[in-house]
Amino acid sequence: MNTLINVFSIIIAVLLSGCQQQRLYKDTRVLMGTFVEVISPEKRASKIAFDEMQRLENLLSKYKPDSEVSRLNAKGELKLSPEAFFIIKRSKDISQASGGAFDITVAPLVDLWGFTDRKFKIPQDTEIKETLKLVGSEKIVLNDSNNVVKFSFPGMKIDLGGIAKGYALDCAAKKLKDAGIKSCLINAGGQVYALGDKFGTPWMIGIKDPRRVEPTEFITLENQSTSTSGNYQQFFIKDGVRYAHIIDPKTGFPAKAGLISVTVTAPEGLTADALSTAIFVLGKEKGEALAKNFPQIKLMEVEEKTAKTQ
Ligand code: ADP
Ligand code: MG
Repeated sequence: MNTLINVFSIIIAVLLSGCQQQRLYKDTRVLMGTFVEVISPEKRASKIAFDEMQRLENLLSKYKPDSEVSRLNAKGELKLSPEAFFIIKRSKDISQASGGAFDITVAPLVDLWGFTDRKFKIPQDTEIKETLKLVGSEKIVLNDSNNVVKFSFPGMKIDLGGIAKGYALDCAAKKLKDAGIKSCLINAGGQVYALGDKFGTPWMIGIKDPRRVEPTEFITLENQSTSTSGNYQQFFIKDGVRYAHIIDPKTGFPAKAGLISVTVTAPEGLTADALSTAIFVLGKEKGEALAKNFPQIKLMEVEEKTAKTQ
């Protein structure tokens, strides 16, 4: 539902800020588990972007049994395509840079809390403790010479849900550029990539406060991506407590570091995506310290204490 609100706000932003005589084509499709909207002065843009994102979903989704990620998760060792190998390597790097806050090996914890099959439950402490033994990117062994990825412990799994969409947006933008398209906005459920500008002015998008207690903010983007991570889209509430889908790999519990949303703007979708997840886990102080190591990014946070509602 919030995805729809975000998409809606972006459409309004585009229509209001643009010159009404110049035409924009809009097309929407469900991909990578979310609504993906493509807006461009060129009609052919949407097919190019959708095809590329579909290709990456087929390669990287843990929900597709034939994807390279699913086959690696099933076998514990696999020779991957250079592209899948690359994204796992980048994930490991970001894990290290974030002190383990971003970690694709949280997959068994995501399953344990029921976020994969949407049968939400609060696990026993002993289950969390056992599952934590499978978590830690240093337990993924990468062989650069032959693209083989191997897990150090049986039962380990990876989940690229915190980075794949951002990477897919980068790839879609590249395909569009290669096809000679200079202007396009792709919104994948709140994560956006803006290629070029819109009729001479930067693309403008609306960022809503997730609990709608603060006014909408607008940001301009040009050859940049923005990603929002929060606890307001995928969550369940049990006995008045909110449990959301971003897991703190240190505790094994849904991250609770005082933020309800983090928005990161970066030249690359991959960086924006992974860092918004990492900073959500770290909280304001440590998150801002991490952001300082990435001079090209911009950070916007909404703190729990400023929100008036659950
Ligand atoms: P969204 O999927 O809504 O865009 P994020 O980019 O923040 O949100 O990614 C959240 C997803 O990333 C979760 O659904 C899960 O698949 C995965 N994930 C959860 N916790 C972590 C973590 N600490 N590090 C890396 N990935 C995570
Ligand atoms: Mg993310």
